Amino acid sequence: MATMQDYSNKVTPTWCPGCGHFSILRAIQVAASKLEIPIDKFASITGIGCSGRLSGYLNGYSFHGIHGRSLPIAQGIKMANKDLVVIAAGGDGDGFAIGTSHTLHAIRRNLNMTYIVLNNQIYGLTKGHTSPLSDTGFETKSTPFGSMDNPLKPGITALAAGATYLAQGFSGFQDQLIDIIVKGIEHDGFSIINIFSPCVTFNKVNTYQWYRENIKNIDEDSTYDSSNYQAAMNKLIETDGLCSGIIYQKNEPSFLDKLQGKEAKPLTDLNLKISKDEFENLL
Ligand code: SF4
Ligand code: MG
Repeated sequence: MATMQDYSNKVTPTWCPGCGHFSILRAIQVAASKLEIPIDKFASITGIGCSGRLSGYLNGYSFHGIHGRSLPIAQGIKMANKDLVVIAAGGDGDGFAIGTSHTLHAIRRNLNMTYIVLNNQIYGLTKGHTSPLSDTGFETKSTPFGSMDNPLKPGITALAAGATYLAQGFSGFQDQLIDIIVKGIEHDGFSIINIFSPCVTFNKVNTYQWYRENIKNIDEDSTYDSSNYQAAMNKLIETDGLCSGIIYQKNEPSFLDKLQGKEAKPLTDLNLKISKDEFENLL
């Protein structure tokens, strides 16, 4: 029987004591052990930021990529080896600033993998400046008068892009985190999980206490129907994005389902306007 220790590579994290990312790392390890994912079938890919360290602490295949690019790398890995359980992860800056277009297109592609956003509403690694998910008025060294931009709401953005699995969690709700990661990995398609993860060093506004006071846990509402798109959108709007649990899930053919039975055609079979030799001379 697998244990969470099987998914730890024994490297000591360099995160600040109390960082919310510890809880997410543990939740992934517990979720992987519950699903008994073989280590040689487990791949984690991260971008840049404090969140990027995550892949360096997980056992299995791991790849610490470049800023905002965990998703194209992860999708390539999944397409090259469809037997792998692939988890991509990145911060709020990684996924919703430089990597925004990758996030949107990966969501609508619905390839079978999981994307975890370690959302602390700030850039931590670069010593605390405003991210696209920081609230308006948020004061940092980069926004001394307070952020003047409206924040993106990751849940609403993901739903609008056509997410087939959207969950949100909070580093302080460990049991729920494990549950939404297990179900996200089991989902037949692309699962996006936005996790509120306090940066205890630089974000003195969105603290553990602040999230506890402001997040609405939808698991406490037995009438909530996560298969209802309109209800999911309403919940995100009502709570200003601050809700946790499985917000929305629907069954729809995944990218791999759509690929079944299709075979790549050799270049010569394509209806090209130029000959193969002419085409190759262009390269
Ligand atoms: Fe965590 Fe913030 Fe420290 Fe980075 S700077 S490790 S996000 S607490
Ligand atoms: Mg961040």
